[in-house]
Amino acid sequence: MTRPLFGTAALVTGASSGIGAATATALAAQGASVALLARRADRLEEVKNEIETTGGTALVTVADVTDADAVDAAVTATVRAFGRLDILVNNAGLMRMGGATEAALADWDDLVSVNIQGVLYITRAALPHLVAAATDSARGVADIVTISSTAGWVARPNTAVYSLTKFGVNAFSEGIRQELIGQRVRVGVVGPGTVDTEIGDHLPAAERDAMNQRTAGMAKLRADDIADAVRYMVTRDRRVAVNQMLVRAAEQTW
Ligand code: NDP
Repeated sequence: MTRPLFGTAALVTGASSGIGAATATALAAQGASVALLARRADRLEEVKNEIETTGGTALVTVADVTDADAVDAAVTATVRAFGRLDILVNNAGLMRMGGATEAALADWDDLVSVNIQGVLYITRAALPHLVAAATDSARGVADIVTISSTAGWVARPNTAVYSLTKFGVNAFSEGIRQELIGQRVRVGVVGPGTVDTEIGDHLPAAERDAMNQRTAGMAKLRADDIADAVRYMVTRDRRVAVNQMLVRAAEQTW
């Protein structure tokens, strides 16, 4: 059976763990050659090996999404290796929690740098290649999917700046969605609810405990559940644009 993404190339940021690793693996299973971008080379190599073991094609591109030059180089390396770029998944991101009165400015800076600037840098670098791929592909379309969050729809106490970044990428996506219609680049966002990944492991103990308390007893989503949403979006016929998907854990109220 022909795989729907056969002959295409995808680049997934934050592919060294969690949702990004699952998404890269899912796109490779659909036939895409996949560039894996993050900072941890060893973890990217593990994902690459896993993809190759099942017959897929993957490339490791080590970069920090907050470094515009490194991001440019990663996009160039992807196009050099695969000859094209059809799908960009903006997934790299981090979360910080805490009230505004006691927040460390460095945490706010990190959130804005990774979750917003990181998305802008790579989208800007990828766009000319996505536009070219849309005109030169059997699918007749290219895709940008950004992993937002339910926090991009509803702001709550203690995650105000995280929400700022996710509302921000939603707005950016909607704006460029309208700009790119004529060039056949689809733009979508996926808003995950609570997903069982490493995202909380990077929080200080007190914040991690608060997060665990809030989600205790809930059956969390798996990274594969979000990868499945991305796969669904990018494998639709070119007449169909699924621009937003909110995927909550079924027991989640927010
Ligand atoms: P993980 O912590 O497992 O993954 C985060 C990924 O982002 C890692 O691959 C990490 O790689 C990468 N990353 C972080 N900073 C940078 C950077 N500066 N440059 C390059 N890569 C970076 O968490 P998730 O899989 O959960 O998170 C993925 C996305 O999903 C994020 O955007 C997050 O906001 C979103 N999300 C997650 C939810 C959840 O409940 N887990 C809920 C809603 C949204 P490395 O450290 O190797 O660079």
